[in-house]
Amino acid sequence: MRLRNIKGSEQIIATSSYVVQQPVLQKNNWQALFGNQFPIYLEIGMGKGKFLVTLAKRNPHINYIGIEKYTSVMLRAIQKLEQETEEITNLRLICMDAEAITEVFEKEEISRIYLNFSDPWPKDRHARRRLPSKEFLERYDNILKSDGQIEFKTDNRLLFDFAVEELKLTKWKTDQITYHLHQDSKMMTDNVMTEYEEKFSTLGNPIHKYIISR
Ligand code: SAM
Repeated sequence: MRLRNIKGSEQIIATSSYVVQQPVLQKNNWQALFGNQFPIYLEIGMGKGKFLVTLAKRNPHINYIGIEKYTSVMLRAIQKLEQETEEITNLRLICMDAEAITEVFEKEEISRIYLNFSDPWPKDRHARRRLPSKEFLERYDNILKSDGQIEFKTDNRLLFDFAVEELKLTKWKTDQITYHLHQDSKMMTDNVMTEYEEKFSTLGNPIHKYIISR
């Protein structure tokens, strides 16, 4: 997802209380930033943020951080948050490329990572940019607690098959997997639909999902 550059988006992002401006300065300090000891869950490639906003409102005892690369997309998330009647205190946003994620989070600082409808990067030479690639799994390994899990869902079968193959090259183990999430009553428990999930499941596309740990 990449929207046209929107005039003034930098200014809105720079002044939003939801956005952490210099995330590297918070490394090993994220719980202090939230002012509690609750676990921290990340969504990488959050898009317009519907998934995280829903989760944050539902689970006040979990801290959520959304990472998004593009300011134009982040702006949409902020605009949506500003329509909320009350501030959501357990949610923060970071505008950055997730490639630098280990500069922002300390070892074991994160309890769960969500990858929702990640960009497929279809060309082979771009495989390492895919968020469920072995290169990214190694980065996640460096920030997740030892009992932490990663949840990945997509309607893109080629990307999902790639992601499953990548696991074989790593220490990650599959805890749960489905090729048709919306027909899997167990994995659908507590499912929160993302913007892309709503769009593609309405078109009839099956949604694939895995949950992994190590
Ligand atoms: N997760 C949302 C959903 O399911 O509706 C958005 C999915 S959209 C296809 C993927 C999003 O991931 C885009 O907004 C894109 O800018 C972001 N993204 C892709 N690669 C990223 C990276 N390396 N770091 C941060 N965000 C990234």
